[in-house]
Amino acid sequence: MTDQTTAALADGIARARGTDYLHMRALLSPDESALLDKVRDFGERELLPIVNDYWERGEFPFEVLPKLRDLQIVGDTMSGYGITPMTAVGQGLVSYELGRIDGSIGTFMGVHVGLAMQSVYKLGSEEQRERWLPAMARLERIGAFALTEPDHGSDSVALEATATRDGDHWVLNGAKRWPGNAVWCDVIVVFARDTADGKVKAFVVEKDDPGYGATKIEGKVSLRMVQNADIVLDGVRVPDDRRLVHCNGFPDVAKVLMGTRNMVAWASAGHAVAAYEIALTYAQRRIQFGKPIAATQGVQAKLVEMLAEVTAMQLYCIRLGRLLDEGAVTDTMAALAKYFCSVKARHVCRLARDVLGGNGITLDFHVMRHLCDMEALVTYEGTAEVQSLIVGRDITGSGAFA
Ligand SMILES: Cc1cc2nc3c(=O)[nH]c(=O)nc-3n(C[C@H](O)[C@H](O)[C@H](O)COP(=O)(O)OP(=O)(O)OC[C@H]3O[C@@H](n4cnc5c(N)ncnc54)[C@H](O)[C@@H]3O)c2cc1C
Repeated sequence: MTDQTTAALADGIARARGTDYLHMRALLSPDESALLDKVRDFGERELLPIVNDYWERGEFPFEVLPKLRDLQIVGDTMSGYGITPMTAVGQGLVSYELGRIDGSIGTFMGVHVGLAMQSVYKLGSEEQRERWLPAMARLERIGAFALTEPDHGSDSVALEATATRDGDHWVLNGAKRWPGNAVWCDVIVVFARDTADGKVKAFVVEKDDPGYGATKIEGKVSLRMVQNADIVLDGVRVPDDRRLVHCNGFPDVAKVLMGTRNMVAWASAGHAVAAYEIALTYAQRRIQFGKPIAATQGVQAKLVEMLAEVTAMQLYCIRLGRLLDEGAVTDTMAALAKYFCSVKARHVCRLARDVLGGNGITLDFHVMRHLCDMEALVTYEGTAEVQSLIVGRDITGSGAFA
């Protein structure tokens, strides 16, 4: 294949779109359907042409921030504070379409909106919401979320960072690992244990607060555009009005995490549908032994397996979103959806990579980037094993964590 053919094929493949075998579209409201089209067009027009380059360089594309703001998709289901409201299904569709193009941009949004803004929204007072949310909705101030610690990932409930009251301030000490956006964010929601009552509390730390330090985690081969950090809290003093007043224990943290598991489930479905569409188009065009590889039983079996998994993910996600909109979702439902979609999406990306043969490992054809990015989605917001343990405890009545 010449370079020109490869580029044309990659472009055509990347623009294959709209897999919807069981007519998911019919389950959307007109507003949700319009939102899907809006984000899809934006992703294909503005993001797809630039993501491989940024991914390879491991840099964040700051140029997209004003465009994301103008698209009015920053704020998911929150209302007020300059946010354009959407349903939980609509929020999911945004994650789906961003995931379909690129995991890093989707993850940036997941951290900024789903974790940082939602922490302020769900755990903050009215005054605290007014103080931070409007500028965050305009992407003028970027947020991050620091829960995980070097020694406490899956068992984040055992976090060791401390918060000690000192007059009208709190003094924060400890270390955090992995927060996305943290290298360059403006504000970061930090969870720490109150040394007086032992409860986990939330604090908004500003990037210039003395004692706060963030060092980029180098050498990642997944979500390369997202800048994750190792964080040091060395006697960081924050005024009491930066403690999010409705966070008074780990169950309050869990309220934030439930919504983001919905977003990760949808994003996983987006990665999977991209991989499937690329593999399908490639297989129809790639000639071996005198015919398209799509005309072989082995490749068709892979494509049908991918379609079956993608369709199941779409239905999982729509149902989860509707339950969220009805206020009827439980953390175990969100855990099941995150578990199913992330594990299946990684599998679909692997199958797609196989179908593309050698071309499957190049950035030009995108599937390897999706596969690499899926490795992080399987892990963050609670690993697949931890989601399985959460659901396992629910159905058996026996916790098997320890
Ligand atoms: C790209 C990326 C972005 C992230 N962004 C953020 C962020 O913005 N903010 C934040 O706070 N955190 C973030 N995280 C952290 C993430 O939530 C943790 O990585 C995750 O919870 C797993 O923790 P860990 O990496 O310490 O793995 P560990 O907890 O050490 O787990 C290692 C392995 O052991 C398994 N395991 C652990 N316990 C059990 C058990 N009881 N039974 C069976 N298996 C078990 C796990 O499933 C996993 O396979 C991010 C992580 C990544 C990779």
